[in-house]
Amino acid sequence: QKATGEWQTLDARHHLHSFTDPTLIESEGSRIIVRAEGSTVWDNDGREILDCMAGLWCVNIGYGRRELSDAAAAQMALLPYYNNHFQSASPPMIELAARLAGLTPDTINHFAFANSGSEANDAIARLARQFWQLQGRVTKRTIISRTMAYHGSTVMGSALGGMPHMHAMDGGVSNEVVHIAHPHWYLYGEGLSRDEFGLKAARALEDKILELGAENVCAFIGEPVQGAGGVIDPPSTYWPEIQRICKQYDILLIADEVICGFGRTGSWFGSQTLGIQPDFMPMAKGLSSGYLPVAAVGIHDRVYNVLADGGHLAHGYTYSGHPVACAVALANIDIIENEGLVARVRDDIGPYFMAALDKLVDSSPIVGERRGIGMMAALQLVKNKDTRELPTLTDNASIFCRDYCYNEGLIVRAVGPSIVLSPPLIYTHAEVDQTVDILGRALDATAKKLGV
Ligand code: PMP
Repeated sequence: QKATGEWQTLDARHHLHSFTDPTLIESEGSRIIVRAEGSTVWDNDGREILDCMAGLWCVNIGYGRRELSDAAAAQMALLPYYNNHFQSASPPMIELAARLAGLTPDTINHFAFANSGSEANDAIARLARQFWQLQGRVTKRTIISRTMAYHGSTVMGSALGGMPHMHAMDGGVSNEVVHIAHPHWYLYGEGLSRDEFGLKAARALEDKILELGAENVCAFIGEPVQGAGGVIDPPSTYWPEIQRICKQYDILLIADEVICGFGRTGSWFGSQTLGIQPDFMPMAKGLSSGYLPVAAVGIHDRVYNVLADGGHLAHGYTYSGHPVACAVALANIDIIENEGLVARVRDDIGPYFMAALDKLVDSSPIVGERRGIGMMAALQLVKNKDTRELPTLTDNASIFCRDYCYNEGLIVRAVGPSIVLSPPLIYTHAEVDQTVDILGRALDATAKKLGV
């Protein structure tokens, strides 16, 4: 990022991470978190910090749940590990697949396991191309994704992602992936209503398919709500139109649920909140609330049937479906279910959280809009609400704001000129109030720094 200097395009300006700057870590030291409980973490200086990012969108049930460590210990003692590709399974893995089949859309009844969201997406890229190959449609290989998407850090995951700095790292997009623009109404929707813009943004997919030829397009991948790109919740017209296009041109639809899954949007999966019927659903993070690494790929029956008929699937990881991780995931799902966390997000804490953030849009001169749904939100920072002028890289607004929050005891994330907030689903009303109190002061200080 330093090497490329000030980025000029809107897309690139939209994105600014500082978390990968090794010199900063060397000079300032990393933040070392040593213990956690509920929605609070403690660092190595004993400071108490409210975690409004749930780690990295992971800890949906909050920290310190003994049920998960007990489940891990019991499974560790009984059967810590077994895998002998395709010939073996363990009871927790079988049970987890069955539980997931009950939570996902009716058409998703088969699961493959992996250890991370990146690996899940790698697996999907291979399985999706295999799906067409097995039917003799060998040219259907290109996968269409979106700018500012995040789908992982493996070679395929980062190619699927749409972040310029990730592509820059290994010299450009590879692996037959192309991108269309992400549906960010506030930045790109000038002169259009949200709904009009949603249709326009979705039709970029149709244009791209026609340009490439449908016989060359394998799949479209999208997060129901783009998370790492800045919590971009699309207009309500967007996904139905994407769905129509995928169906019309015979394109597989991959809904990346790694962030949106397990209650974050007020349904079990973002696909249910937004009315998406995917062919593949990668999931991770909230699957185990981050207590152990585990990921899964939900596969539509019609896709599974072709893959299963094809016989040979040369795919699998040593730790796929790890029994201890699956046992932990099951205990995590029990808690989400027993404590009604999905309904809590939809009806109680989610609306309370959004309403509290909306007040900041009204009170702060530098918050242009609040985005998000359920317990994933972003505040768009601007220098001028009328012109929607964004802070520049050198203004450093979001990072200043984020660091101000951290010093006051609150973890938020800076994504481009946005502040992203995605707390555990157990966040209390008092914790929302505390978040908005600290954030309000941080925004005041940031406005002052910007001279607004
Ligand atoms: N997909 C999405 C939507 C993500 O947000 C992430 C991680 N932030 C990934 C995939 C990759 O997951 P992992 O970091 O577990 O590889």
